[in-house]
Amino acid sequence: MSHKRIFLSPPYVGQDELSQVTEAFSSGYIAPCGPMVDIFEQKLARLSDRKYAVAVSSATAALELVLAEKGVDFTWTVIAPTLTFIATVGPAYRCGAHLVFVDCDASGNIDCSLLECALKDAVAENRRIMFIGVDLYGRCCDYDTIERLCVQYGAEFICDSAEAVGASYKSRPSGSAGVAAVYSFNGNKIITTSGGGAVLTDNADMAEHIRKLSQQSRENTLWYEHKEVGYNFRLSNILAAIGVGQLEKLGRIIEKKTRNRKFYTDIAKRKGYEMLPAMQGENNWLSVMFLSSEQERNKLLSAFDRANIEARPVWKPMHLQPVFSGCRIYGGLVSDDMFKRGVCLPSGAGLEALDFERIEKVFGII
Ligand SMILES: *Cc1c(COP(=O)(O)O)cnc(C)c1O
Repeated sequence: MSHKRIFLSPPYVGQDELSQVTEAFSSGYIAPCGPMVDIFEQKLARLSDRKYAVAVSSATAALELVLAEKGVDFTWTVIAPTLTFIATVGPAYRCGAHLVFVDCDASGNIDCSLLECALKDAVAENRRIMFIGVDLYGRCCDYDTIERLCVQYGAEFICDSAEAVGASYKSRPSGSAGVAAVYSFNGNKIITTSGGGAVLTDNADMAEHIRKLSQQSRENTLWYEHKEVGYNFRLSNILAAIGVGQLEKLGRIIEKKTRNRKFYTDIAKRKGYEMLPAMQGENNWLSVMFLSSEQERNKLLSAFDRANIEARPVWKPMHLQPVFSGCRIYGGLVSDDMFKRGVCLPSGAGLEALDFERIEKVFGII
């Protein structure tokens, strides 16, 4: 195939971002921090309806900082949905926390009745508890129910909104849930800074401490004075400039991603496949389709591969990962089935008529 490769979710960038980067470059702030970081943080706080945003080098780093701020260690049980990317729980694993996984429901997001079982058990075991929620594929989890359950069982609620920038839950934006939430600006996410992330919170002390932790926890003295050990996780001024440009077109990107979803929904109807059910406020980061069997899913994936088009299985659930084989799982069959039959389809905001034709052709041959 001499066709150019169609990627799953490539960056959608151009002149807007370039001119912001040029401005950042000519301002002289090449060194990590600078005015673009402040502007980016203000815009992120507004977008997520939060008082504070701290821009950092990735969503993984953002979660690491939140857990460090909360003092999560081996005395904690950290509960998380099993259907997610490993970065949701990687930092908790590194802290030595006891990880527990919970299945999803038909929406792909956490099954709240199973979450309640997990919370009850953790309370009975007298553990300190954190729940890390996930807004899977840009669709917000059930913030109201989760917030109520976490208050009832005394769990800290953190929300991994890495995939959900620009999405909303009822009248609230993603990023507004929990004591802290995180966004990702990795290269394949809905908007990108090439690599980056943010912590969002309403708690002033938490925001200040996280900002300090992200810069080696240096005290405010002439020399380098340290009362604790931090990280080097701050976002650079140049990368923040890309983010400022990207935020300008977030609405346009979501429109284009929604158009992608419509295109795939039509195909699914014709072929008798299912889509991940539509949800109010979703950003359609990736379009997800379910085939009738694992064999059929594999057939579609290899047909895409032969056509030089990138498509992938749905996230492999955490409870099926070798590294987490010792962890408890509540339920598990729903996410297991989604993994076997689900495909993340090419979902770039820049897909054009010829690309759609090539994609449609692949569906024609399976
Ligand atoms: C991408 C992703 C992350 C990690 O984001 P990075 O910025 O790449 O560290 C975390 N959680 C989820 C659910 C993700 O999809």
